[in-house]
Amino acid sequence: MNTTDIKSMTIDELKILMADLGDKPFRAKQIYSWLHEHLVTSYEEMTNLPKGLREKLEAYPITALEAVDVQTSKIDGTQKYLFRLRDGNVIESVLMRYKHGNSVCISSQVGCRMGCRFCASTIGGLTRNLLPSEMLDQIYRIQVLTRERVSNVVVMGTGEPLDNYENLLRFIHILTEDGGIHISQRNLTVSTCGLVPRIYELAEEKFQMTLAISLHAPNDAKRQELMPIARKYTMEEVLEACRHYFAKTGRRITFEYSLVAGVNDSDEDAKELCGRIRGMNCHVNLIPVNPIKERSFQRSTRQAVENFKIKLEKCGINGTIRREMGSDIDGACGQLRKSYIEKTESEK
Ligand code: SAH
Repeated sequence: MNTTDIKSMTIDELKILMADLGDKPFRAKQIYSWLHEHLVTSYEEMTNLPKGLREKLEAYPITALEAVDVQTSKIDGTQKYLFRLRDGNVIESVLMRYKHGNSVCISSQVGCRMGCRFCASTIGGLTRNLLPSEMLDQIYRIQVLTRERVSNVVVMGTGEPLDNYENLLRFIHILTEDGGIHISQRNLTVSTCGLVPRIYELAEEKFQMTLAISLHAPNDAKRQELMPIARKYTMEEVLEACRHYFAKTGRRITFEYSLVAGVNDSDEDAKELCGRIRGMNCHVNLIPVNPIKERSFQRSTRQAVENFKIKLEKCGINGTIRREMGSDIDGACGQLRKSYIEKTESEK
C-alpha cells in the first residue's frame, strides 16, 4: 500500500497516523467519518478538526476520482462513468437502478491480464492494480454525483479482483464496516475467473458476501478455449474450491455463464454443466455474450438462452437470464474506456 494514501487506511491505521502526527486517537474516527461517510474530498471540509492538524494532513492527498464522461441510458437510467485517476489512467464504473436499490459495478484493476477471449477489458493487458481508495471512490463519487444512495456493489468491472487480493480485502473491510458508507456484505458480490488458491484464502475471511465464479463452459476443453486461466486450474479444482467456500461461509455460489452461439450454448452443454454442478448450493447467471468488435463471437439467440435455462431447471438448478441494462449505451464491459483511450491516442 502507498503509505500516504489516507483513504485506504483503516481506523486503526489512522490512529497510528494520529500518534505519528502528535494528535489524539479520537481524531482518527472523525477523519474516517469525513472520508467514508460524508465522502468529502478536502481537509477544508473537515470542520471539526483543528487547523494545525488539517495543515499537517495536506501531506496525505485524498484520492478523488474525476468523472470525465457519463453516459445515461434513456431506457432504464443506467449510467456508465469514465473516471480519471491521479496518474491519468481511466477506468469504468456502471450504476444500475433497480427497484430494490442502486447497484454500482466497479473496476478492480486498470486493464486485466487474464486474457478471456470474449472480454474487451483484457485486450491491452494489465496496466496496474487499483488502490482500495480507488475502488471505494468509484462508489463514493457516484453516490455524491447522483445524490442517490448506493445499496449494492458488484466487483465485476474491468480487472480480476483476486489478482489484486490485498487491496480487495482492504476495500471490503472499509466498504462494509461501521463508521463508513456501511454497505452490507450481503449486498456485495465479487466475481472471479477462478484463481483457486485465492478462493481458499478468501473463504477464511468468512465474509457474508456473494462469490461469483466465471465458469462459461461445461468442461475443461471448452473452458480453455474461452479462458486462458482454465489451463492453470481445472474446472474440477475450481468447483472443489467453491464447495469449500460454501462449507466455510454458508454462502451460495453464483456461477456466471456467458452464452456464445455455437460454442457453449447447446443442449449437450447444458446437460454436461448440470452433471458437473448438480447438488451444489449454487445459482447460475446466464449472460448472452456481448459481442466485441475485436473478436468474432456471436451472441446466442434468445431461444437458445431460454432453452439453456429450461435444461438447467429440469435438473434442479436455478438459473437467471441476466436482464440487459442500458442497452442503448451498450458496448461490452470495458469498451467505453477502450474507445476513450483510442480517441485520445489518435488526437496526439
Ligand atoms: N475478472 C472477473 C470479473 C470481471 S468480468 C471475472 O472474470 O469474473 C465480469 C463478468 O463479465 C465475467 O463473468 C466475465 O467473464 C463476463 N464478461 C466479460 N466480457 C463479457 C462479454 N463481452 N460478454 C458477456 N460477458 C462478459
